[in-house]
Amino acid sequence: MTDSLYFINSGDSCSGCGACIQVCPRDCISMHADPDGFDRPSIDFSACVNCGACRKTCPYSKTSFHVGGRTAPLFYAARMSDRALRLGSASGGIFRAFSGAVLRRGGAVAGVRFDPDFRAELTTAETPEARDEFCLSKYVQSRNERAYRDVKSFLEAGRPVLFSGAPCQVAGLYGFLGADDENLFTVDFICHGVPSPLVFTEYRKSLERRFSSPVKSLNFRDKSEGWAPMRLRVEFENGTVYSRTLTEDPYFRMFLSGGISRPECYTCPYAKTLGRESDLTMGDAWRAEVLDPAWRDNTGVSTLLVNSPKGEALLEEAAGELDFKVCEFSVIDQHYLHHPGILHPDRSDFFRTFHKKGIAAALDRYSGPRPLLRRLKTRFLKIIRQLRGKRNPQ
Ligand SMILES: Cc1cc2nc3c(=O)[nH]c(=O)nc-3n(C[C@H](O)[C@H](O)[C@H](O)COP(=O)(O)OP(=O)(O)OC[C@H]3O[C@@H](n4cnc5c(N)ncnc54)[C@H](O)[C@@H]3O)c2cc1C
Repeated sequence: MTDSLYFINSGDSCSGCGACIQVCPRDCISMHADPDGFDRPSIDFSACVNCGACRKTCPYSKTSFHVGGRTAPLFYAARMSDRALRLGSASGGIFRAFSGAVLRRGGAVAGVRFDPDFRAELTTAETPEARDEFCLSKYVQSRNERAYRDVKSFLEAGRPVLFSGAPCQVAGLYGFLGADDENLFTVDFICHGVPSPLVFTEYRKSLERRFSSPVKSLNFRDKSEGWAPMRLRVEFENGTVYSRTLTEDPYFRMFLSGGISRPECYTCPYAKTLGRESDLTMGDAWRAEVLDPAWRDNTGVSTLLVNSPKGEALLEEAAGELDFKVCEFSVIDQHYLHHPGILHPDRSDFFRTFHKKGIAAALDRYSGPRPLLRRLKTRFLKIIRQLRGKRNPQ
């Protein structure tokens, strides 16, 4: 029997975390990109023994895999004390401090790096050099082919592990392991939503065509002109540099306006403050300068939520490398701690144009401010939907 696309949880939700493919004892599940470029599991039914492990491991089959241990979070603003290290990170560089503490104990770290073709992949590292590749945010969904299996092997060998990933990837890890482990520490981030790998690849290729050279490095959080506003810097093999702020770059604009995220991101069950899956949560602390005038230097400050006693213990261990302050929730509060990403009204039109006419046409048409006519059309359709709802009450 040939592969067929099949949603493991037999619903229509899949975050693409990869738990089902890695838990399968027959290795008969594999990831395939859907037309918009998002990984979805496929089962080879000729090898499937119907054991149900994939369904049991799927985070969408349960609200939470956590068996206690979560506490009401403590809120901090924090940053790496070392300026140079901070500049090489997306926000305040706190991931470096936590991962450093675990590596010093002979442990391993899981995180996301760009492979040589600039595909974001979730993988593991056992040295500070390999861990450094995880620093800086890659604003695209990462592929997870075997990180959960590797984490399990490290834990079985009695080694501590820091697992860093999107909230859905952390939930997938707990689903895969089936239980927490005293040697496992998890850190997720306040998540805006993860963009389509296909859109990102096509955008990178369009820049390569425009500058007639392959990309050498790509940094969504270049701080050469400061932490804010966020800046994308792309260096090409021929020495050319493309550098644009979040409002100037069309991919950045499309990402931030919620137009290219995975469909499931718009109903994400992990976008919340209480009861997060991870031990620690990090993000950007844009208003933290009110806590300390020294933090006005525009080099980056992180939000830190400590969600469990294990998270507290890791913070204590990493404290020597950090400047951190307890703060009011209002200092670090942001939309994605309460609600999933907001669906861009033109998302489906964007993908239609992208498939028909290519990345440049789609970004050109939909990444800017919405023209009056399109805004009126959305309003009109909303009113029609409301009227229909009134006529056919549930
Ligand atoms: C797709 C995405 C959306 C985000 N949305 C928000 C947001 O709305 N608000 C907010 O405050 N913060 C958001 N963040 C988090 C923020 O960009 C920083 O990653 C975070 O503040 C950590 O900063 P740092 O300086 O401590 O980490 P760094 O030292 O820069 O380390 C980066 C960390 O992020 C992980 N990472 C990088 N790319 C990915 C990826 N594609 N998938 C999974 N993990 C990845 C790395 O493994 C590493 O652990 C988002 C991050 C990503 C990747």
